[in-house]
This record gives sequence, C-alpha cells and structure tokens, in this order.
Amino acid sequence: MQTHRVDRDLRAKIGMGLLGLAVVALLIGLFYHQIILHNDYEVQSESNRIRVQPIIPKRGVIYDRHYKIIADNMLSFTVSVVPFEVKKDITYKKLGELLGMDPAAVQKKAKANFASEFIPSPIKRGLGIEEVSLLEEQGDAYPGITYSVESVRRYPVDASVESFIGYIGEVSPEEIAADPDKGYRPGMLVGKKGIEKAYDQLLRGIEGTNYIEVSARGKIIGPYRGKDRVAPVPGADLNLAIDLDLQRFIVENFDTNRCCGAVVAMDPRNGEILALVSFPGMDPNIFSRPIPTELWQGIIGDSLHPLMNRPIAALYTPGSTAKLLTAGAALETGKITENTYLRPCYGGMQFGNRFFRCWEERGHGRLNMLHAIEHSCNVYFYQVGQMLGVDTWHDYATKCGFGRKTGLEIVGEFDGIAPSTAYLDRLYGKKRWSPLLAINFAIGQGEFSVTPLQLAQFYCGLANNGLVYKPHLLREIRHPDGSVVRVAPQLSFKLPFSQPTLAKLNEALKLVVQGDGGTARGRRQKEYNISGKTGTAQNPHGNDHAWFVAFAPSEDPRICVTAIVENGGHGSEAAAPIVGKIIHHFLINNVPQFAHLKKEVASTRP
Ligand SMILES: [Zn+2]
Repeated sequence: MQTHRVDRDLRAKIGMGLLGLAVVALLIGLFYHQIILHNDYEVQSESNRIRVQPIIPKRGVIYDRHYKIIADNMLSFTVSVVPFEVKKDITYKKLGELLGMDPAAVQKKAKANFASEFIPSPIKRGLGIEEVSLLEEQGDAYPGITYSVESVRRYPVDASVESFIGYIGEVSPEEIAADPDKGYRPGMLVGKKGIEKAYDQLLRGIEGTNYIEVSARGKIIGPYRGKDRVAPVPGADLNLAIDLDLQRFIVENFDTNRCCGAVVAMDPRNGEILALVSFPGMDPNIFSRPIPTELWQGIIGDSLHPLMNRPIAALYTPGSTAKLLTAGAALETGKITENTYLRPCYGGMQFGNRFFRCWEERGHGRLNMLHAIEHSCNVYFYQVGQMLGVDTWHDYATKCGFGRKTGLEIVGEFDGIAPSTAYLDRLYGKKRWSPLLAINFAIGQGEFSVTPLQLAQFYCGLANNGLVYKPHLLREIRHPDGSVVRVAPQLSFKLPFSQPTLAKLNEALKLVVQGDGGTARGRRQKEYNISGKTGTAQNPHGNDHAWFVAFAPSEDPRICVTAIVENGGHGSEAAAPIVGKIIHHFLINNVPQFAHLKKEVASTRP
C-alpha cells in the first residue's frame, strides 16, 4: 500500500518535471520571439493589436481533516482562439486538423466561449506536448490561435470522494446569466457539484489580466505598455471534516457483491461529516477532461445510477430505525412509559380487516417499550402508532428533522417525506385514506421516506443529548494571506424530547447491542459499548434494504454511523457488520483511549 503510494507520488513528480521542462522551453521560445525578433516586429507596429490574456489563479487545494490531499492541481496546456485575430478560412480548419476536431465544431466552441474580441476563447484543455510543440514551431500557420498553461483539477485518491467533492467544468451560459456578480467569463472552469460548487468562489480566487501586444500576423511582441498587468489572487485552501482514511476504509470494506448503498459517518458533538460514501461511486477525474460520448452514455444509462448521490438524494423507508421516533413521541405525550406492556405479540395483530405481521413469525409475547426496541417488535409499535395517530406522529417526525433538508452545503439534497394529513389528502383524496396508516409510519414503512443523512442527523441528536448540530463538510478555510477561519459548529435544532425521554431512548438503544435479545448483539465489543438500531426497508422492486445506525462509545459518543445496503435483507446481517467495523476503525485511530486496541490487533497477525 505504502510503496504503491510512493510509486504514484514519484510518477506524479516525474510527470510534473517533464511538464516543467516544457514550460521552460516555451518561455525560451517566447523570449526569442519577444526580444531577439523584436526589431522585426516594430516595423509593422502600426497594425499591432492588444490581446487581453486572463491570468488564471491557482485553484485552492482541498484537504481532509488530517491534511491529506483530496483535490489539487496539475499544469496543463489549453489552446484558444482570439476572435479578433481569426482568419476564417484558415484558423478553424488548421486547428481542427491539429486537434482532430471538425472545423465546424471548433468554430462552435469558439462561439460558445466568446467573451470579447480580444480575450482568447478556450477550445481544448489538456493538450499534448506534440500539439503544443507544433503550435510553437509553426505559429505562423495558425493565425488567431494561442495557448496557455493552465492548472486543471486532479483528485489523487480513489475513495469515492465524488459524492461530496463534486467536480469542475466549463461554466454554462445559464450559470453566467443566473449569477452576474460571480465574475464568470465564458470558457472559465468552475465548480459544478459538491464542495467544488459550494465553495467555488473561495476556491477559484480572482483572475488577473495580462495585456499583450500582438503583431498583425498574430505574433506576440511583448507586454502592452499602455496598461498595467493585474495580478491574480490565488484561491483559498479548504480543510474538510472528512477523514480520508475512514472514507477509504468504508469503500474497501463495503461488500461489493451488494453493489449499492450509502454510508454516512458523523461526529454527533458538532455535526462534522467524517465520511460520506455513495455506492457505486464515480471517479471525479473523468470530469476534468471532455468526456467521450460513449463513456457518458454508459454512465447515464447505468441501471445502478452511479451519478445518484445516495447519502443525500436517495429516499428509502427507514424501517425499524423509525421506532425511536415513535417511542420518543409516545413517551413525550404520555401515551406510554418505558414499562408499559401492550397486547402481546403472536407474530402479528389484526387491525380492522387487515392482519399486520411482526417480522418474528413465532411472536415476541409480552414486552415493555425497552424490550420492544431491543427485539424490534412490530406489534408493539403498531399499537403505539395507533395511539399517536397521523397528526401527532407527523408533528414529532417534523420536529426530529424528517421531511426537510438538513442544510448540508452541497446541492442535490432531498426533503424526504414525513406524511401529514394534508399530504395524505393530496395523495389519496380527502378522507379517502385510513387513519391506520399511522400504524405503518410507526414502524418506518408506508409513505414515510428518508435520506441516509436525515437518519444520521436524528441519531446524532439521540447520541448528543437531544442537540442536533447541522451536518457540514467544511472545517477550515485557509486564505492566501495566511489567515485561517475555523467553521463553528451550528446548532440546527433540539429534538422534541425531555431529558428523561432521551435517557430512556438511549437505554433502549444500548439494549439493541448489549441486551441478550438485541437484534444487533453480534456487534457487541468488550472494550466499549455501542448503541444502535437495525432496520429493514421494504423495497417494492426487489429484496428489502438493510439499515443499521449506531454510535459509540454509548456513554460519550464520538462517531455516529448510518449504513444502508440495498437489497441486503435484514439490517442485522447485511448492514450491522460493516458499521461495527467502521466504528472500531475510527475509535482505535482517533480516540487515544482506544489506541492500544490497534496494537493488539497488529501483534496477533504474522
Ligand atoms: Zn413481535
């Protein structure tokens, strides 16, 4: 692993070295043209023109919480046409030949990226050395064509970072029109998704400008003396809350046979997102260059939907993970106490003319609230749902953050659905639905749907004494002047539960793992307590999806992890094992108290 990384670093350095040599060669060429041949050009000075050359600032580097690079830059050549200098019959034809493009396509691109007669319109980025050398040697044959060294984005880690980092691309006419104040110029590279988009202005910096005098033949004479060069301002570097090591660990340990799903890991004490993984993931590097049509068709036609950002934009029924919401609402409204015994579970229960099943066909018998959560008995919670009714249930669901976005910085988050009377009236018609629907919502089925992030947020609140901090990815902004701004955690809301209610819910969550009948007792650890809840989300399109949400250590939670494994079946089998591994990996690597466990593991292996 280590040697592989060194190898890659070395290769990257050699690559940068070669590119550096190429840049030096180009500068020598420029010097030759500017200084040695200067007299030649002065003769034609009457028809000289000014070319306005934007100076692209260095885009800010994005690091994880431990200063590991998530996104940086590499130098690349960009070829452009200067509209005022274009010779129609020659320019597009010659450039088309050089780039292997149809001349009409070159012209179309020049038009699309047109900013002014004197500002170069980018045609193609990532030019090869051969193409640049040819342009350098035979500049005369390419009227109106110029090239520049520009930095393009590079994402050096393969750890499904696209789900939060996004990518950059050429600004669209719609984006320019929507935000005239953002300093966009046609052809400019801007953040299109994720962190790259959310903090684009900070990362992008401010363009500078060079004014260059060019002869009638299109040869560079030198800096134009009539106007001062404007220096660019580099972009700010960002530190994310993401733990790249944890992110990579999750990607490596997710059962690839199960193809699809999502994992969210958060610090419940402040809302920092430690990992955000969508399966299957995308490589953001493919967006750094023009994407071949076949590749793009393959991506958008993929039945696994790799572009869907599952942690924030996939909706699932929460299954039994919702029983904590139901229990909290019932305790808070005094419908039950933790010691209330309801009608026993015989594997199901008749409501009206329908029989509602428990997942345990043999039945759970007589249970109080705590053990109903430990065993995840549906029959107990059907009865609690009936007591609450749709309106009260909806009120608590909304106050627990369901049915609305969490406010994570990146675009594309879904609201989810916490059905209300008004919603059901719209869906089925007024009074045309049964109040028994609350029975389904109480066990996280029916029309109730959530994103993995919403569920993570709710459990972070349970772990953090009812205080829900806004989920966020950004941790620190490092400005080019050296100043550092730390992002302060923002209290988003408080769960609508009193301290006694929160204490009882936490007792139940602990029983799920520590209790003898707990549905996740397989995750029990000797060295610390884990609290959590399994869930199974009904899936009308195939096998059920498996949930597990957990935090640890129970007494002082440092990490809260939510995982959904699509078509995984029961949460205890498909989702709980990976969540257990993630928690353990995080604790032994980040909490000093558990660091010794890491050594023990290492010493038992040959
Ligand atoms: Zn039951």
